[in-house]
This record gives sequence, C-alpha cells and structure tokens, in this order.
Amino acid sequence: MLDHLMPAASSSFQLDSVDLFGAMMLAVVFDLFYSLNTQYARFRLICWAFRMRAIKYLVLFIIPFLPSLNPEFAVSPMARSIFILSITTIGSGLLLSSLFPHLPKTMKYLGLPLFFTLILVFLITALGFFIPWETLLLNAPALMWSISLLFASISFFFIPTGAQIRLFSATGKCLLLVAAYQILLAFDLLPTMWWPLSILIYGVTISVILFAQVRFVESSCLSLQSQLTQEKKKRYSLWDIAPFPIVITKLVDDQVLYINPLARHLLGVPDIDISQIHFADYFIDPTKRVELIALANKQTVVESFQIQAKSPYNGVGLWINLSARVLELDGELTLYINFTDITKDKETEQELFVQASTDTLTGLYNRRQFEAMTKQAFALHERTGNPFAVIMLDIDHFKNINDTYGHDAGDVVLKHLAEVMQRTMRQSDVIARFGGEEFIIFLMNTPPEEGLVAANKLRETVEKEMFISGTTQIPVTISLGVSFSQKSDIAALAKEADLALYHSKEHGRNQATLYTPGMTENTETIAKHTP
Ligand code: GH3
Ligand code: MG
Ligand code: MG
Repeated sequence: MLDHLMPAASSSFQLDSVDLFGAMMLAVVFDLFYSLNTQYARFRLICWAFRMRAIKYLVLFIIPFLPSLNPEFAVSPMARSIFILSITTIGSGLLLSSLFPHLPKTMKYLGLPLFFTLILVFLITALGFFIPWETLLLNAPALMWSISLLFASISFFFIPTGAQIRLFSATGKCLLLVAAYQILLAFDLLPTMWWPLSILIYGVTISVILFAQVRFVESSCLSLQSQLTQEKKKRYSLWDIAPFPIVITKLVDDQVLYINPLARHLLGVPDIDISQIHFADYFIDPTKRVELIALANKQTVVESFQIQAKSPYNGVGLWINLSARVLELDGELTLYINFTDITKDKETEQELFVQASTDTLTGLYNRRQFEAMTKQAFALHERTGNPFAVIMLDIDHFKNINDTYGHDAGDVVLKHLAEVMQRTMRQSDVIARFGGEEFIIFLMNTPPEEGLVAANKLRETVEKEMFISGTTQIPVTISLGVSFSQKSDIAALAKEADLALYHSKEHGRNQATLYTPGMTENTETIAKHTP
C-alpha cells in the first residue's frame, strides 16, 4: 500500500548543493535570532536541525573523495544510506522537539530530541516489516525530514506574541514553503532539474525570515523603550509622593537630576530648572561632600550621614541626616539621597550640651567639660610638644562682698568677672568655673612663665575694672596661681596652680604666683580653700 508513496528519491548534485547552502544559511539565521530572542528555544532547536542537515550534505560530498585518499576508506552504499537515515532522524527529532519550546532546559535540548529520535527509529523499524529495506532507506529520510519540517513550520502559527504574530507567521509560511517543496521532491513530483526553484525558495525563505526577525527586534526595542518610559514615569510618580525628601544627583558633577517636592520645600529650592542646582552648594563644609562621595563609592549604602546644610537661595540653614547610595539610573551613575530634617534634634542636642557643659550663672565651661577639653589639649601637646600653663584664680575676700553688698551683687561680680576673663584671655584659652568663686584657665601654646605674665595681666585688668551692682561700685581683686610642670595630668596641674594660688593669698592677695617645686601646703588654708 505504501509502495506508491516510495518512489526512488531523485537527487542531483545541484539540488544537493542548494540544499547544503540553504541548510547552512537557515542554521545561521535561526542561530542569529536565537541570540536576539533568547526566550525562543524553538529557534535553537531548528538551528540544530538545519546544522544536522548541512553536516549530512557535507559528509555526502566528502564520501566520494575518500577512496582516492585511501582505498580502505571506501563507503558502501548501504553504510551511506544508514548514515543518511541516522543523521536525518536526529535532525527530524530536533525539528519535532521545537514544537515544545517551553519545557525545562535539559528536557527540551536533550530529553525531547532523544525521545523523538527514538520514536522515529521505532516507526522506521516498524515500517521495515512492510516495505523492503532498500526502498525504506532510500525514501524514509527525505519524507521524515520534510514532514517534521512541516510540523515545525505549522507551530509558528501558534506563537502567542500579540503584535508580533504576523512576523512569526511569515517565518512559518516560508518554512512551510520549504517543507512543501521538499515533500514534493520526496514524492518525486518535481524533476531534479528544477533546482533553480530550490534556490528561489531558499532565497525567499531566508530573506523573509531575516526581514521578519529584524522587524521583530525593532518592535521589541520599541516596546522596551515605551516600557522604560512608563517605568520612569511610574518611578518618579512614586518618588514624588514619598513621605521623605529625595534628591538624585549626577555622581560626576553633582548636578541635581531629580528632587521631590518635599526635598524642594525643605531645601528652599526656588521654581527653577533643576539642572541649574548643584547639591554641593548646600554643604556648609564642602569636605563633607567629598567624604560622602568617597563613602558611597566604597560601600553599597551610606547611612546616618549628618551634614549641616544651608540653602544658597534663601539662606535657611538646616541639619540633615541622609542615607545615600550610588545608583545607575537610565545609564548614568547617580547618587540617590534621601534625608530627614534633624535641625530640631540638633538644636535640642546643642541645648543639652550647653546645659551639661556650662555653668548657668557665668556661661563658662563647667569643671567636667574643662577636664574633657584638656584631654584633647594633652593629645595635641603629646603630638606637637607645644607648652601649656594652667591658671587657677580666686576672688579675694568674696565672702565680704557677699556680706557687704548682698548675694545678688556677688552673682553680678561673678558674671562680670567671667566676661572680663573672656575678653582678656586668648580665644584658644579654655576658661571654666571650677567651683564657687574659683576659676581655672588652660592656656595653649604658653610656657609657664608666659602664663604668669597672662595671669598678672588679668589680675591688673580686674583690679581696674568697674564692677557695678545697681548704683554701687564694688572693688574686686583676684589672686592667681600658675602651674609649672608639663605633665598630661590635669589633677596634678590644678594642684600646682592651687598651691601657687594659696601662696598668693598668703602673701597679701591681689597677686599671681608661678608654682615652684618647693611650694608646700599650709594645711589650714588648704582646708579653707579647697572647693
Ligand atoms: P579668700 O580671699 O581667702 O578667697 O576669701 P574669700 O572670702 O573669698 O573666701 P572663700 O574663697 O572661701 O569664699 C568663697 C565664698 O564664695 C563663699 C560663698 O558664699 C561664695 N560663693 C560661692 N559661690 C557663689 C555664688 O555662686 N554666688 C555668690 N554670690 N557667692 C558665692
Ligand atoms: Mg575667695
Ligand atoms: Mg574660694
């Protein structure tokens, strides 16, 4: 019954050459578009099927030349036919596997081709019971290949790709043309001398597939672009309503690329084109900006980075606590910053610091803050070796002032004295209220002898100063002691200055004394004066 289907397949050198070239070109085209449309495993499987076909023709072209190299290499017609059948079976298996491109990777590239190849082998073996093997070997490959190609081409009409459907059906139509042509050849319905028709069919097929795929890539790019624009719009609309301020700047020149309304309001940005704004202009300390960029480049996220900012537009200052990260945005390296306004916290922190570190009556540092600051001064002294001196001073007969003019007048004197000290001493000197009406001063870069000069200058200034409470002028003098040693130990230095101070007290008050190692304590006075 099948006999009429199996006429001896004709073949000609020209036809085989066109087929070889066509198969190679189609393999290249499908491979190319596989790389462009990675989701389409069917391209890859069809590519491999055409590669098998090309290999078949290449081997067939080589076989006749083998005996001329070595007579032992002569290939029997039977072996030749079995080779054709085997490689075509594999090729057909690959074509049939392309019908199922959505299976898992190993399954579609290995399991499925193997499965279809085995099925085809089984079918051919079964046919072998009805048809003579010679006829089968001669006709089965061409039939099997063209029918598999027919299935593969038909599957192109079922690709669910929306707008691109036309492009895929064009590819399918062309492959269908090739399949139909090859079926006609397999049934010997076309004379082999019609090989130019083969060229035409392959030519048209390859051109149409190329064109269709170029259009596919083009339209994919377009839809990707519009998707990107949509994404961008969505992103900005989300940032616009974010409950925290966001600023995005170019990493290279700090130009602002995006700023949300909240950030715009907090940073006092006027209604101008944002490309004119540079975030660096907001940094009161420009080195902080450099530090921020360095950190952002080093670590993925910079967190809790505090800066003091000032709007270059309205001059309003604020403290901000920011988080930042380098972000590639639309192909550009940017710095994404979101922040919170911590001005109020900073002010409270500052107030607390002032409260904790200063004396309420005089506004001078308290003893604890003085000690903390001297630690820094000692660290500097240890690095540079610069000298220092400590002055301790006490108001003379302050009890009398309190008793004579009243406690409030005493307070006025204390405040006024603090102001005189701040005015008379250098900016770098640290002045603190040590206790009651005793004060201590740390003089940077000052050798003890110069400390004594400074102490005397202060003493003279106080002596000449008009201390007035209400309408009464209060005569005020002070006694001072200056430390001598250069130890990084504030307790020891204070002790020296204290001893020298009591030396001044004992020797008539209103004077300054430099500590000398022989100076001893008078237990009675020490007991009286220790705060
Ligand atoms: P001396 O010359 O020996 O130092 O005599 P003095 O009277 O000053 O003696 P002392 O230094 O012991 O006196 C300290 C006095 O300072 C006692 C205290 O009533 C007074 N005093 C301490 N703190 C304050 C303050 O905050 N306000 C006022 N008005 N007086 C204070
Ligand atoms: Mg006193
Ligand atoms: Mg005292």
